[in-house]
Amino acid sequence: MNMSEPAHFDIGDLRGEMRHDEPMARHVSWRAGGVARHLYRPADLADLQAFLRRTPATEPLLFVGLGSNLLVREGGFPGTVVQLVGALAELRMEDGLIYAQAGVPGAKLARFAAANHLCGAEFFVGIPGTLGGMLAMNAGCYGGETWQQVVRVQVLTRSGELLERAPQEYDIAYRHVVLRQAHEEFFVGAWLKFEQGDVEKARQEIRALMEKRSASQPLQQPNCGSVFRNPEGGHAARLIERCGLKGRQIGGAQVSEKHANFIVNVGGATATDIENLIGAVQATVLQQTGIELHPEVRIVGERVK
Ligand SMILES: Cc1cc2nc3c(=O)[nH]c(=O)nc-3n(C[C@H](O)[C@H](O)[C@H](O)COP(=O)(O)OP(=O)(O)OC[C@H]3O[C@@H](n4cnc5c(N)ncnc54)[C@H](O)[C@@H]3O)c2cc1C
Repeated sequence: MNMSEPAHFDIGDLRGEMRHDEPMARHVSWRAGGVARHLYRPADLADLQAFLRRTPATEPLLFVGLGSNLLVREGGFPGTVVQLVGALAELRMEDGLIYAQAGVPGAKLARFAAANHLCGAEFFVGIPGTLGGMLAMNAGCYGGETWQQVVRVQVLTRSGELLERAPQEYDIAYRHVVLRQAHEEFFVGAWLKFEQGDVEKARQEIRALMEKRSASQPLQQPNCGSVFRNPEGGHAARLIERCGLKGRQIGGAQVSEKHANFIVNVGGATATDIENLIGAVQATVLQQTGIELHPEVRIVGERVK
């Protein structure tokens, strides 16, 4: 990676795993993209706190879960990616609420809720991200949204201080979550509330949602879910399809034939192919319909010079 700082980072007595010049294609569901200068996978919450306490405030940090909504440009991420999946994995009942750490995957959360006779978590099953990513994105589907279930969240500040925050402290909307006081903080857990209900019905709903997804989404090809946010009162997929863009390809990136709001990696796609295709779809939709589409996927890192 052509960056000014040397590719080393002394982790001393930290218990997690540090990698250098790590290809992010291994960690994002598009299976494409550049490298991270460092990638740290903490051993647990205490280890993550210790990591943050000793990381210089100038080091750019990017917290990631399963990378199911993320693209790192070919020029790479010039800082440390902190990966929580597999690390912050606690999941338990606490005073009638579910406490889950940020690395818990959506499907695990949905099944844990059903096993505890709770309903309303079914929609999480089809979102292939972690709770941390779902909190950051206010992920949702089929009428459910992550923050509708949140009683309070647990965050770590940039300097490693552990805090609890209430939903009222955030601006929350469709795929939008911003802390009102602009501090750099990261989600490490949340307490979620669900209603008691018919578990068998919840399990059936989970099965039905899985079937619905595999019928309508190109799950066999690397993708990042819906690329664009739905414009107000409209559907990004319908607009893209109406503009004749299904099957449009740049390099190894293609607008899915199965679901027009998905871009799939048909083999060897680069982050640039994907980003160029995103731009081409935006330009065509704007030209033909006058509607501006905005990406839902997060694109980070340096462009190749
Ligand atoms: C097949 C498929 C279907 C999908 N369906 C849906 C759907 O129905 N609804 C939907 O909303 N999304 C959907 N998605 C998109 C994606 O799964 C969600 O956005 C999910 O919330 C991302 O979680 P993640 O852990 O993978 O986050 P990542 O992709 O790793 O990160 C996404 C963003 O969240 C930030 N982030 C991650 N963890 C933290 C943390 N602990 N603290 C602070 N910031 C953090 C990252 O920095 C990044 O900006 C789908 C994706 C795929 C591949």
